Amino acid sequence: MKEGRLPGFVFRFRVNQLNNVGLMERGTEGWSYPVRAMLDTLHAGRLLSQRNVSTEQWTDLKRQFDEHCSEEADAELEAKSSLTLFRRFGAASPCGILQRTLNHAGAKLRLRLRCGGAPIMEAAAAWNKVPREERKCRICNEGFVEDAEHFTSRCSVYADLRDDCRQRMQQVIDEQSDPELRQAIRDFDVELILGDKWLVGLSNEKRIRLDSIICGYLKVAWRRREPIWKTLCAEGSNWQLR
Ligand SMILES: [Zn+2]
Repeated sequence: MKEGRLPGFVFRFRVNQLNNVGLMERGTEGWSYPVRAMLDTLHAGRLLSQRNVSTEQWTDLKRQFDEHCSEEADAELEAKSSLTLFRRFGAASPCGILQRTLNHAGAKLRLRLRCGGAPIMEAAAAWNKVPREERKCRICNEGFVEDAEHFTSRCSVYADLRDDCRQRMQQVIDEQSDPELRQAIRDFDVELILGDKWLVGLSNEKRIRLDSIICGYLKVAWRRREPIWKTLCAEGSNWQLR
């Protein structure tokens, strides 16, 4: 925080006050404590007692802070089984189809499915503290865990919609297309439906057409699932299981 800025002044004043009058224990309740603790974690606590912080020190601190936060976020992600798919896909491609508008209901659903934010059994059961092995699909009742991949690519309840979607995608892709992409369409690869790496190499026109077909499929499949899911949830909630 810059010298002349009021928050910087207040922060330094508060830190000095707590240090000087020996109220460290009371400091744990204050807002300056977590910041001090973070600076200590980054071995930068000494900066608090310096009169001036050089540009190099400031740049170095910001870099360390970024690294620390991404390590923390990675560790948190690693610990959550419901975010397996999110880890597998990684971030959306900078110019990929996922950067397009989210006006389409299917595109919104895709975003939620990617990050565990849609109420499918895996996410809802986690929210209700049900162990992972019991998070079975109650739409097909065939004993598989209902995760995003099961919903988009495997559940038998949407097989006819998937066939239709597959056929329409094959019409857009001509015979000269990448054989791996054609295989991904045949397999209904979850990375094709929820990710964007398969579509990156295509012309803009083809990407948009394929994306519309995929979003249309997600929207219609979700519409079929919703009334069944509602019967499994408490009145008025999409997340609280009965
Ligand atoms: Zn199912």
